[in-house]
Amino acid sequence: MEEQQNIHLMSDTLASQVAAGEVVERPASVVKELVENSIDAGATSIRVEIRRGGVSLIKVTDDGCGMSRADARMCLLRHATSKLKQVEDLFNINQLGFRGEALPSIASVSQLTLTTRRAQEVEGWRVSCEGGDMAPLMNAGCAPGTEICITNLFFNTPVRRKFLKSDETEAGHVEHQVRLHALAFPHIRFTFVRDGSVVFDVATTHDLRFRIADFVGREVAETLMRIRPTEAPGVRVSGYLMPLSAARRNKRMQYVFLNGRPIEDTIIARAVRDGYGGFPTGLHPGLFLYLEVEPALVDVNVHPAKREVRFRRPSELTLAVIEAVASTLAAHARGEAAAPAAAEVNHEPCPPLCPSPTSAPSAARRPAAPVPPIQPAPVLKPIVEPQQQDLPLPPAPSVPVAAPRSREERRATPPQPAEPELPNFRHIGNLHERYAIFENSEGLVLLAPRAARERILFERLLESNRRPMMSQRLLVPELLELDARDMGVALEAAQQLEQAGFSISRFGRHTLRIEAIPALLPMSDIAPFMQELLQVFTRGEVRLNRARNPFEPFARQLAQRYAAREDMEPWLQRPLSLLTELLRCEIPYCTPGGKPTLIPFALSEINRRFQAQ
Ligand code: ADP
Ligand code: MG
Repeated sequence: MEEQQNIHLMSDTLASQVAAGEVVERPASVVKELVENSIDAGATSIRVEIRRGGVSLIKVTDDGCGMSRADARMCLLRHATSKLKQVEDLFNINQLGFRGEALPSIASVSQLTLTTRRAQEVEGWRVSCEGGDMAPLMNAGCAPGTEICITNLFFNTPVRRKFLKSDETEAGHVEHQVRLHALAFPHIRFTFVRDGSVVFDVATTHDLRFRIADFVGREVAETLMRIRPTEAPGVRVSGYLMPLSAARRNKRMQYVFLNGRPIEDTIIARAVRDGYGGFPTGLHPGLFLYLEVEPALVDVNVHPAKREVRFRRPSELTLAVIEAVASTLAAHARGEAAAPAAAEVNHEPCPPLCPSPTSAPSAARRPAAPVPPIQPAPVLKPIVEPQQQDLPLPPAPSVPVAAPRSREERRATPPQPAEPELPNFRHIGNLHERYAIFENSEGLVLLAPRAARERILFERLLESNRRPMMSQRLLVPELLELDARDMGVALEAAQQLEQAGFSISRFGRHTLRIEAIPALLPMSDIAPFMQELLQVFTRGEVRLNRARNPFEPFARQLAQRYAAREDMEPWLQRPLSLLTELLRCEIPYCTPGGKPTLIPFALSEINRRFQAQ
């Protein structure tokens, strides 16, 4: 009897067609892949031409490094890439591409012609491919760079073709895609041609605002507020915000780029909202947000088309975004001119490079400024840099809370008990015994006392970096029975406990003796509190020994756990002092974990919603 065999290996072409299902959805996704390759190749000028929505023609021409004869053949094979050599590279991705799938996938569902020449060579090469079948390589006289011409997309996969929308719609998607690339890389010239006419041709620029102006018009560009460049360990945030008055009902004016990739991400979207101080639901502020995150802190390999990313330390990024947005709005509310500039996307033109036929274009060409190495910076800080020449700015929008004060400002003016410029707030009552309500001339603010206390305690604890914390000696030392693991953790955290103002010592094998507690954190239930705190570290939710500055995560936990247990009643009785103290914090708008502490409602916004004059 003949042995039955149902399982067989797919042919390379079939495998590519299957992969194409994930990568090549529509003409815009082809354009995305091709343009990303051109950017990775160090191009300074990229031209995209389409006909009939990209179905009959997609042509992408660049002046990048080009390919050698051998590479011109190789690049159409599955899993052929010059960008990824070992699995570790996957966690340190500096290029837009790395899967080695795009070209073969596109080639398997279209007729593709690739023409390429390296600048240092006198002639180029051309190779054609139909439905994945490659014709022999030929010499070609051509300019340095690469041109990829795709005709008859999905000619051999009619079902896919049927899924395409009208030419008009597909062309719209392509245009949007090219616009995204152009906004992400202002130093590259982008030309987009549709059915024979030039839709846009944007010149290379060193000022991101000019590139934005190419798309939104000069009038709108003049109303942009430059984001105060903000840094957290391994993260840098820059870009522009649109005034609140320009908010829309859709997210079309929200552009977020992560290391040169446009992304849509709920974590970032929420952080933006929080930064705006809780935006009225249904409205979306316009913004051009550029995030530069150390490649090791983000995983871009979670989606075949790389539309989604996964952050390894989302809370730091969240905080950086909130801080960047909130401090920019606050600075404008105070009527300050443009925030410090110069830290936005690095507009240095990329030197065209092609080091060796097989080596990857190096990180040196990456458009985003290299992110500084992870530092033990305890909190986010606006980067203070010299002012840059800027377009005139509009009158500032108003936000009814005061701005966070930078460290420099605080050093210059020692904090006074009552800050006249700050509150002017009147406490008008509490909501459900949970939130305090304040009004001032510009609107009202809701304060969450527990979140506020968390922020205040955290920042006060961090002051121990500069001067020792006050301790409160216990009349009778508290003895804490710990199992071996908890004891190990307590001893590991001994230094942080001491820094925070605790005084502990080991008392026998399983007993920890607590002799003093921080004066900042008066407590009666010391033992259960310490048990709970140590548990967080025992369970490994927070690892002090992995952190560069172990005191910061420790202080974060301490502040959070303490505030969670604290009785809020007294604070709700005199919330104005709490608000004042909160507004003296460096980052008043959120807890160290990124939850809002204050939600402002501008009077203008309230009027607008009531349709009042
Ligand atoms: P990936 O970008 O993931 O490496 P692709 O299939 O998109 O995979 O491209 C395969 C390889 O072809 C790239 O790694 C690169 O070396 C080369 N290549 C593709 N497009 C270009 C281009 N426009 N200029 C120079 N080299 C290119
Ligand atoms: Mg690619």
